[in-house]
Amino acid sequence: METEKKLEILGAAAKYDVCASTCGPVINSRGRDTIGSVTRSGICHSFTQDGRCVSLLKVLLTNTCKNNCQYCVNRRSNDFQRTEFESEELAHLFIEMYKRNYVEGLFLSSGVKNSTAHTMQKMIETVEILRFKYRYIGYIHLKMLPGTSEDLVNRAAELSDRLSINLECPNPDRLQLIAKEKDFKKDLIKPITHAQHALRAGKLKSGITTQFVVGAAKESDSEILFTSNWLYKQRDLRRAYFSAYIPLDTETPPPLIREHRLYQSDFLMRFYGFELKDFIFEANGNLNLKYDPKFVYAVKNRDKFPVEINKAPFENLLKVPGIGPTAARRIYRARKEYRFTQNSELKNLGVVMKRAAPFLLINGRKAGEFYEQISLGEHCAGFAA
Ligand code: SF4
Repeated sequence: METEKKLEILGAAAKYDVCASTCGPVINSRGRDTIGSVTRSGICHSFTQDGRCVSLLKVLLTNTCKNNCQYCVNRRSNDFQRTEFESEELAHLFIEMYKRNYVEGLFLSSGVKNSTAHTMQKMIETVEILRFKYRYIGYIHLKMLPGTSEDLVNRAAELSDRLSINLECPNPDRLQLIAKEKDFKKDLIKPITHAQHALRAGKLKSGITTQFVVGAAKESDSEILFTSNWLYKQRDLRRAYFSAYIPLDTETPPPLIREHRLYQSDFLMRFYGFELKDFIFEANGNLNLKYDPKFVYAVKNRDKFPVEINKAPFENLLKVPGIGPTAARRIYRARKEYRFTQNSELKNLGVVMKRAAPFLLINGRKAGEFYEQISLGEHCAGFAA
């Protein structure tokens, strides 16, 4: 099979791995033969720590897999075209794309062909060719396969900027429902622990990430957030990605907004000082779909609001809907020399006043009122200021 055809198949197969801001090959709506689509053949975009947007070649080494994970398009029982790259072939393809400025980095994942050790070695060999033969020093994100051994994790960490492994489910019981061949602790948590050791030894400047597939094992948001919170605290995880389950048969998919609410909660934990206990879950353990988790927190903790903008500690400012870390820092700095008296002054600092006003006092005066009847379960039913 020609390399270009392999790229088409293995780039498309990689679209379920979330590693960046835009993922998955999208054929240009103006037709396949046009020029200018940057999303074909598995090219996606990610942001570096300094905010730069980089394009990644996102591709699988092979879409052949000995496992049969229920949610995965590459599972062994799925009848479709299989192919694989040779290490040299993929390294050469990438470097040619890099030299032509099509891509600035590589995200390499794979199905498990024959064994984890065999496939991981081929993935590592691809990266070695890039680093030593082609002297490529740019960004590489390498996916660890389930059950990757410590020595292979270490070698992968020496060569890559970022390592990740997909947990897919938040705990062993859920994983057993959809991926019977994987052992949650042995195959998934252990490689993360090895990667954490490499991280603490100064390797992996872009850290470790993971991905959850949302709704595949009927897990709740509280289970997912519990595990991601544990990974942030105990395994130095850089970030978790959430990918709404795309059923492979006639099942009803989970609402996409669920994925969005999990991302919002994840941001609240990473950047807003929210603890797990601050999230309010519905009776089924999921987040409220109608209102975002920060707003729900504020409504359910009415005794903590409104906060006085001229006095509230930084961490309390961050809890106000409509105030992000940047606006909170600006307020904190400005009020050292200034006393806020008007709504418009906060708007100029980046506060979304439409959301923030009902939760703020400005110089002792209420900044705004609720105009909507808010109903969030029995505790807050009918709350409207
Ligand atoms: S091991 Fe990975 S590639 Fe293989 S079926 Fe499971 S999720 Fe898919």
